[in-house]
Amino acid sequence: MSNTNVPELFGCLVFNQTVMKEMLPSQTYKALKHTMEEGTPLDLEAANQIAEAMKNWAISKGATHYSHWFQPLTGITAEKHDSFLSPADEGKIIMSFSGKELIKGEPDASSFPNGGKRSTFEARGYTVWDPTSYPFVKDHTLCIPTAFCSYNGEALDKKTPLLRSMESINEQSLRVLKLFGNKAKHVTTTMGPEQEYFLVDEKLYQKRKDLKMCGRTLFGARPVKGQEMDDQYFAAIKPRVIKYMEDLNEELWKLGIYAKTEHNEAAPAQHEMAPIFTTSNLAADQNQLTMEIMKKVARRHGLICLLHEKPFKGVNGSGKHNNWSIATDLGENLFAPGKTPRDNAQFLLFLTAVIKAVDDNQDLLRYSVASAGNDHRLGANEAPPAIMSIYVGDELDAILKAIKDGTDYSGKTGGKMTIGADVLPPIPKDSTDRNRTSPFAFTGNRFEFRSVGSALSISGPNTILNAILADTLRAFADELEQSKNFDEDLEKLIKREITAHWRILFNGNGYGQEWIEEAEKRGLKNYRTTPKAIEHYVDQKNIDLFTRLGIYTPEEMKSHYDIKLEKYCQVMNIESNTMLEMVHKDIIPAAFKYLNVLADTEFKMQRVFNLCDAGLKLMKELNILVNDLSNKADLLAKKHEETRAIADLMQRAHAYAKVVIPAMEDVRAIADQIEPLLGEEYKPFPSYEDLLYSVQ
Ligand code: ADP
Ligand code: MG
Repeated sequence: MSNTNVPELFGCLVFNQTVMKEMLPSQTYKALKHTMEEGTPLDLEAANQIAEAMKNWAISKGATHYSHWFQPLTGITAEKHDSFLSPADEGKIIMSFSGKELIKGEPDASSFPNGGKRSTFEARGYTVWDPTSYPFVKDHTLCIPTAFCSYNGEALDKKTPLLRSMESINEQSLRVLKLFGNKAKHVTTTMGPEQEYFLVDEKLYQKRKDLKMCGRTLFGARPVKGQEMDDQYFAAIKPRVIKYMEDLNEELWKLGIYAKTEHNEAAPAQHEMAPIFTTSNLAADQNQLTMEIMKKVARRHGLICLLHEKPFKGVNGSGKHNNWSIATDLGENLFAPGKTPRDNAQFLLFLTAVIKAVDDNQDLLRYSVASAGNDHRLGANEAPPAIMSIYVGDELDAILKAIKDGTDYSGKTGGKMTIGADVLPPIPKDSTDRNRTSPFAFTGNRFEFRSVGSALSISGPNTILNAILADTLRAFADELEQSKNFDEDLEKLIKREITAHWRILFNGNGYGQEWIEEAEKRGLKNYRTTPKAIEHYVDQKNIDLFTRLGIYTPEEMKSHYDIKLEKYCQVMNIESNTMLEMVHKDIIPAAFKYLNVLADTEFKMQRVFNLCDAGLKLMKELNILVNDLSNKADLLAKKHEETRAIADLMQRAHAYAKVVIPAMEDVRAIADQIEPLLGEEYKPFPSYEDLLYSVQ
C-alpha cells in the first residue's frame, strides 16, 4: 500500500462536508447544508459559488473535466465528460464551471433504454445534481452524482425513483412515529451491500469467449476438486489476492467508500467486500462505483473481476446481500427493539409492517431481483429459492406467536406480553446460528435481503423495499390516526396483521425440497424464471401502489417492464450464439485435432503391434460424443431461431426460459463429457481447474 495513513487518505477525492465547509463562504455552506438536509432549492448565486469552489478543489486533485454522473436504466453508470476549458483573450483559456453547469446538464437521451417511451427525435433528457450524494474526482474528472429525467419529468434512471421512495418512507414513517409521540423530524433508509465477486487470471479469461461475451462460463467440466472441502470460506487470503484487496481498499477509501470487511467466500476464487452502511442513495451510488473500481483495479493486477451471479456451474454463485434499515435524525434505528415498552410497541409495529409488506408484495420483491444471471442462482442450493419468506429467529418468532394466539410468551424469558406495557425480552443480535437460507432475514437491527444478485444495481430492490413498506405504513397510519384508544387499537392491528400474514414467516431450511412443497400449500409465490417474475409487475395492484406514493408513473412501470424483458432476451440471445460459436470454433475442432492424432497413432500402432485397444476405445467414445454434440448444437440453433422470431416480447422471453435454456443445457452436458477426454494440450480453452485455482 502506497499510503498507509488511512484517515488522511479517506475521502481525499470527495467534495464532502469538510471540504465544503473549508472552501465555501459560511452563508453558502449553510444554504447548501439546508438543501442537502431539507431539499430546499439553491439560488443561482450560491450555486455559482459552489461550482467555483468545486472546480478549484477538483483542479487541485488533478481534474481537467467535469461530468454529470448518472444511472440510466441499463443498471450501470453513465458519464459524459466536458472540460473546464473556456476560451479567453489572446488565444488563452480559463478553467470555468458555472452554477448552471453544476445543477443541470443535458446529455442526449436517445441511446439509453427507455422502453419505447420516447422516440429518438425528442430524445432530450436532463440531469440534475443530487446534492445528497457527494461529488468526487475519478480519472481526472469531477463526477457530479445526478438524477436523469425527461423533459416532462419522467425518471429515465434508477436514482430518481430511489430518492422518491426514500421521501415516501420519510413521510409515512413520520406519520406513524408521531402517534407514538416520537420527536423525530426526518427518517431515512440505510443500506449496507455485501458484494461478492470472483477473481480470475486475465490471460486465461482472454481465451474464453463465454467469459468475455457473457461474463459467465457456458462450458466447463467439474474440476476434480470443487468447494466440497469447505476450505475456502474465510481461509487465509492468497498473496496476489491480498495485493488486489489492498489496492482496492485504497481506491475505495479515497472515494469516501467505507470498505470495511474482506474475506474469501465459499467457492474457490470467490471473495467478498462489505462496506459500512450509509443512507440508501449514497450506498447505491457507492456500490455502482465499487463495482466499477473492482473491475478496474483487477486489470492492474492482471486479474479479471467477475460480478456475474453464476460464473461457474457447480460452485456457488455471487450475491449482494442487501442490509436494509430505517434511521431517524435522532439516531434511532426503527428496526431495533427498544428498551422501553413504548419503543417496543413502535418496533413491533414497524416489524408488522415489514411482514405485511413482504407478504402482500412477494411478486414485487421477486421482480426486483430478476435477471437472466440471477435465475441460475436462486434456488440452486446455494442461495435462497425464488420463494419469498421472512426469517425472524426463534426468539422473535415465539413473541409473534404469543401475540397472534394471545398466549403466554414461552421463550427464554417467558411471561405475558402486552404491547405498549411490556418490554421485549432481549433479542439476540446477529446471532451466529442465524439462517443463511432465507431470502429475507431479520438480523437483530436490520433486514438482510439475500436474493439480490451480485451484478445488480441495488437501486431497484431498495426502491421496491422502501415503496412496499411506505405503502403499508401509510395504511397503518390512516387507520391509527382515527383511533380513540391508541394502545388498544395498536394491539388489535398488530395481532390482526400478524395473523393475516403468518404464512410468510419461515424459520426452517429454505434450500430443502420440503419447503417448496410447504410454500405451495401456504399459497406463497414461486416464480422460477425472470419472465414469470416480470409478468406481474404491471398488475393493477402494483400500478396503484406506485402511483399512490408518486414513486413511478404507469408509463415508467411499463417501460421498466419492457426494458427488463428486452434485456433478458438479449442476454439469452448472446449466450446461445456464444455457445454455438464455441462448439463450432473451439470444441469440435479441438476434438477433431485430438481424434486425428489418435487415428494416426492407431494406424502406426496397428502396423507395429497389430492392436491398440485403448486408442480405439477412446476414438469410438469421442466420435459418438462429437456427433451427439453436433446434433444437439443444430437443435439449439433451430430452437433459438424459432424463439428469436417470436414477435411478442413476453412470449419470446418465456420461450427462451422454457425451450432455449434446456437446449443449451443439453449441449453443455455433452461438451462437458468431451472436455475431460481430450489430452491436456488439446483442450479447447482453459478448464475450470485453471480458472478457479490459478490465482495464488
Ligand atoms: P454478515 O456477512 O455477517 O452479514 P457483514 O459484516 O459482512 O456481515 O455485513 C453486514 C452489513 O450490514 C455491513 O455492510 C453493515 O454495514 C450492514 N449494516 C449494519 N447495520 C446496518 C443498518 N442499520 N442498516 C443497514 N445496513 C447495516
Ligand atoms: Mg450477510
